[in-house]
Amino acid sequence: MQMQMLCSRSLVSSAMSTTLPSTEDVIFSYACIEFFFEISVVNCEWNEDERKRNRVEKQRKRGGIVCQKWEKVDSTNSEYMTVPDSVCGKPARRMVCVWPGIRQICLRKNLMYGFMQLFSFPFKTLRGVSRSLGVSHLCSISNMSSSLQIELIPCLRDNYAYLLHDLDTGTVGVVDPSESLPIVDALSRNNRNLNYILNTHHHNDHTGGNVDLKARYGAKVIGSNIDRDRIPGIDIGLNDGDTWMFAGHEVHVIATPGHTKGHISFYFPASGAIFTGDTLFSLSCGKLFEGTPEQMHLSLEKLLLLPENTNIYCGHEYTLSNSKFALSVEPGNEELQSYAANIANLRKKNLPTIPTTLKKEKLCNPFLRTSSQEIRRTLNIPANASDAEALGVIRQAKDNF
Ligand SMILES: [Zn+2]
Repeated sequence: MQMQMLCSRSLVSSAMSTTLPSTEDVIFSYACIEFFFEISVVNCEWNEDERKRNRVEKQRKRGGIVCQKWEKVDSTNSEYMTVPDSVCGKPARRMVCVWPGIRQICLRKNLMYGFMQLFSFPFKTLRGVSRSLGVSHLCSISNMSSSLQIELIPCLRDNYAYLLHDLDTGTVGVVDPSESLPIVDALSRNNRNLNYILNTHHHNDHTGGNVDLKARYGAKVIGSNIDRDRIPGIDIGLNDGDTWMFAGHEVHVIATPGHTKGHISFYFPASGAIFTGDTLFSLSCGKLFEGTPEQMHLSLEKLLLLPENTNIYCGHEYTLSNSKFALSVEPGNEELQSYAANIANLRKKNLPTIPTTLKKEKLCNPFLRTSSQEIRRTLNIPANASDAEALGVIRQAKDNF
């Protein structure tokens, strides 16, 4: 059972009436609930400008890390998530003082379950509402069934790293830290150590933070055996089909070459989550730097075997531009049209579009839809061309888009 924690007074009242709450309401409501359950607080800022970054940090210290809301800081193109002065109408600082003793207790899984059961009715009522608004694509996802918490950390210009936190043991890992600073920030905000660094592949925008993070925390670096010589600081090399354990969570290693020859994906079956690096993006796949269309096709075929409700955490926020290409080759795909509109809306608010789900990708991602007649017609792919050949043509069209 995957549970997205979404609720608030405003959402409850909205759910009772037939009018849907605005996305802003939902975002703010989500943040409030996030505080009460101490799930996680997520840094959603791209750290491009130190001065503005300090300003956000000051606000954070003044208001406490309890509630965050996206807003535009100035008229430049940079957008930041800032801490509002009040939370649910009360001063944030006061709320932090009221709750500190409960913080650690709330983190305990059993009590969380208790809370979940207590409030199960409104959550169940609201789940449909939240999905229709795409709220599940907010920054923080907590998988209550497996005690694995996943936190999205924007890095560099459009990269995502992911913090993995096991609530039972306090074990922490990070997937694809392209730089160390945002990871250090996120860890120190919650006073956490770092045990593992998981790399999907060797590219610098996925491993750039390895050495510094390893030096600071003594974290072990995990990556593909094939890329032992190319992944900085690698300690544990894994092969296709291996099962590696992260704090009691099975992690299935799936070789997904095509973008690079050593690319792997980390699948957490109990959490219904997979980290696909630069193999599978929302509405696209990675560029074929070291592989062939056949290899990429086989890699994607492996991912297609996973359950449809698997959450896909990829390495970049490329979804908006991907949606434009996808629409250009399959304009008649109604599911895609609706998803693209949702994506545009999220990005306008500088919200992440990740995770996506395998189900959504099957319906919308052109690289998983190589047999679509409309795509083949648009790109003049012969009817008798194989799926791998079609993927090659689609990839080439995307490279030139
Ligand atoms: Zn890459």
